[in-house]
Amino acid sequence: MSHRVTLIPGDGIGPEVTGAARRVVEAAGVEVEWEVHDAGAVVMEREGTPLPDRVLESIRHTRTALKGPITTPVGTGFRSVNVALRQGLDLFAAVRPALSLPGVRSRFEGVDLLIVRENTEDLYAGIEFRAGSSELDALRERLRALGPFEVPHDAGVTVKPISVTGTRRIVHFAFDLAQRFGRRRITVGHKASIMPHSDGVFLAVATADAAHYPDVEFEELEIDEMALTLASEPERLDVLLLPNLYGDIVSDLCAGLVGGLGLAPGANIGWEYAVFEPVHGSAPDIAGRGLANPVATILSAAMMLDHLHEPEGAGAVRAAVRQVLAAGETRTPDLGGTAGTEAIADAIAGAAARIRERGGDAGDG
Ligand code: ATP
Repeated sequence: MSHRVTLIPGDGIGPEVTGAARRVVEAAGVEVEWEVHDAGAVVMEREGTPLPDRVLESIRHTRTALKGPITTPVGTGFRSVNVALRQGLDLFAAVRPALSLPGVRSRFEGVDLLIVRENTEDLYAGIEFRAGSSELDALRERLRALGPFEVPHDAGVTVKPISVTGTRRIVHFAFDLAQRFGRRRITVGHKASIMPHSDGVFLAVATADAAHYPDVEFEELEIDEMALTLASEPERLDVLLLPNLYGDIVSDLCAGLVGGLGLAPGANIGWEYAVFEPVHGSAPDIAGRGLANPVATILSAAMMLDHLHEPEGAGAVRAAVRQVLAAGETRTPDLGGTAGTEAIADAIAGAAARIRERGGDAGDG
């Protein structure tokens, strides 16, 4: 069966890494008809918007997208394309595995974390008040009357809403995911002691609703304690359930624990649509030079194949990545090698095709 998938190459290294992932998916024997749509800086120049309607329409039609990183052009007045996509398609859950890989040097071994980040609320809600604006003057007056809360005259303000409804759905999503993938424990990260009415809501809803899932252990950690645990004994943690901003920060931290941003895959998932993309950004410092590590995007594509009910294809892609990294001959510069994006994509595509031909990864090390 052929799948229709929207492919958004993105900016910077995006076209290089998504091109590599596309090749690997095809080599793994999964038939995909790609609907390719540009978004970001490329279209901004041509059409005056970084996110034309047809991109969202395509995803509403295909329900699934593979996406490269997109940088929001600074100073154009547009909000982040990534945030707009997540909110426009209600992709309320970001799922980001951080798994130690063979042949990759990192500080820890045996790391196997799964980050579930709430994707729509918190300081990302876009409720912003510019310092010196009349709107902020009005808000300051109102707060003074209500609180009294004093906002310094030269401050800017970002509002942090965290709702019961928004938390409840991410909590249920995280527990369902944990059950499906046989994970043992969920740890919620928060700072409820300082922000009782935002992080406190997140913690209270998670604690209450965890009771519906007696077969998955539940614990809570203040976000600073979680940072310490991740930096000292990450193997102690399993699934991390986080509000939006902490989830963003902890995702990069966890990528660093297992070898860097070039290896960290991700998915943005809602009830109806799913967009798969690496955790990293557009890496303008290495863009267009054929040096980017495509593994994060290739592993994001493997998550996509699971989502499309193509477990053999997903398994072949993951086994091929492990095989090539373990062999150690083909590595990009971020992993200490000299190979380019094309060379590692070729090696992984070749391995995936061989694994698929043999009907599995037995004997591939
Ligand atoms: P953003 O704000 O979009 O996250 P950024 O520039 O802060 O962008 P990245 O684009 O993720 O962050 O890049 C951070 C660093 O990691 C850069 O030095 C970049 O070259 C490196 N990097 C990111 N992704 C890759 C990759 N796939 N392969 C190699 N290096 C990468």
